[in-house]
Amino acid sequence: MSDHGPARVTGLDVIDIRFPTSRQSDGSDAMNPDPDYSAAYVVLRTDARDGAGGPLEGHAFTFTIGRGNDVQAAAIGALRDHVVGLPVDAVCADPGTVSRALNGDSQLRWLGPDKGVMHMAVGAVVNAVWDMAARRAGKPVWKLLADAEPEWLADQVDYRYIEDALSRDDALMLLREGKEGAFAREALLLERGYPGYTTSPGWLGYSDEKLVRLAEQAVADGFTQIKLKVGADLADDVRRLRAARAAVGADIRIAIDANQRWNVAEAVEWTKALAESDPYWIEEPTSPDDILGHATVRRGVAPVKVATGEHVPNRIVFKQLLQAEAIDVLQIDAARVGGVNENLAVLLLAAKYGVPVCPHAGGVGLCELVRHLSMFDFVALSKTTEDRVIEYVDHLHEHFEDPVVMANGHYTAPTAPGFSSRMHAASIAAYRYPDGDFWAADRAAAEQQKGSHA
Ligand SMILES: [Mg+2]
Repeated sequence: MSDHGPARVTGLDVIDIRFPTSRQSDGSDAMNPDPDYSAAYVVLRTDARDGAGGPLEGHAFTFTIGRGNDVQAAAIGALRDHVVGLPVDAVCADPGTVSRALNGDSQLRWLGPDKGVMHMAVGAVVNAVWDMAARRAGKPVWKLLADAEPEWLADQVDYRYIEDALSRDDALMLLREGKEGAFAREALLLERGYPGYTTSPGWLGYSDEKLVRLAEQAVADGFTQIKLKVGADLADDVRRLRAARAAVGADIRIAIDANQRWNVAEAVEWTKALAESDPYWIEEPTSPDDILGHATVRRGVAPVKVATGEHVPNRIVFKQLLQAEAIDVLQIDAARVGGVNENLAVLLLAAKYGVPVCPHAGGVGLCELVRHLSMFDFVALSKTTEDRVIEYVDHLHEHFEDPVVMANGHYTAPTAPGFSSRMHAASIAAYRYPDGDFWAADRAAAEQQKGSHA
């Protein structure tokens, strides 16, 4: 408690953090040849004296890949007045109220609605609220959600624009059913973890030798699925996919990911040309906005499955993808839509339609965040991990205080309170853009090189 009245949110800090990942082609795909994995990072500060380590805070971020971080950081800052001054008790007791207030700002809503930079900014702030609420509750977010009463959880969801597919009554029924056997599933989760798959072998900028080596390593590490980026050159893709299939054998699933590279007809033709190597799903074959296009691709490439979602902006587009039977696999992203509240809506929609959720992750901290949502889904909603895997990419975890730990191809369940969204202070100091230690040194070295050539 503060000295004067109830504890309040006292500040919202935005920090621009960028990692120079483009220099090793880490993260390179058919549409994003030079990603510098970045985070527009938000800290909600309070004067609540919870616990030993200083005032309660909530941390979260939006993932971008470089220069977009300027715009993203500005958008998060535009939400400051909605949260600064709010009582901490009320915020933690009902994150949905904050979510509705942020989405309801009429002047900022004009920039969407419910999509794009502003919506992602809402997601970052909402996720920071959930981090704060979970820290106060002394639980990881997945357990906070799994332990919650169905009525409370159902009230966290905004049913506007999705009620034709999912009503509050539907949600309540699903959440009540999800409680059956939840304790046993929680024990299983803590023992075995949640299955993952790895994209690390398949970046487009990697040599065939590196691809094969990393694919073999993935199998040795216990993964039962890997993923390859495709879509730049068909002959290359045929060769790379054959090499990967030869390396992993027939029993390992190989997903392929075009990152929106194709038109609809091209997506069908290209995927069929790769069918000889038995790909499990084709991910983002075309524009994330093209619901009917995805449905056409799905009919054209079966039995190869169609997966999408990492760039789907909101629950409304997910609803239509399900209604149009356009996808076999739904890929939520923890930092694309409007935070935990909207992802709850998407998980409920997927459960209602019986479509497996295989989250997108990687980037900066997306693995850390999204595991909480899948683990909740297993314990207290869909009740299964069958045909469900969380994407795993093995870089940048060292910058997080509560990093992902993989064991035998599974994500272990985090037990620390919060959303696992907090970066080490030293990492922030080094990679803050443009004035962090790494970037300052990098610029100085470039200047010196320029001088020596002069
Ligand atoms: Mg992808």
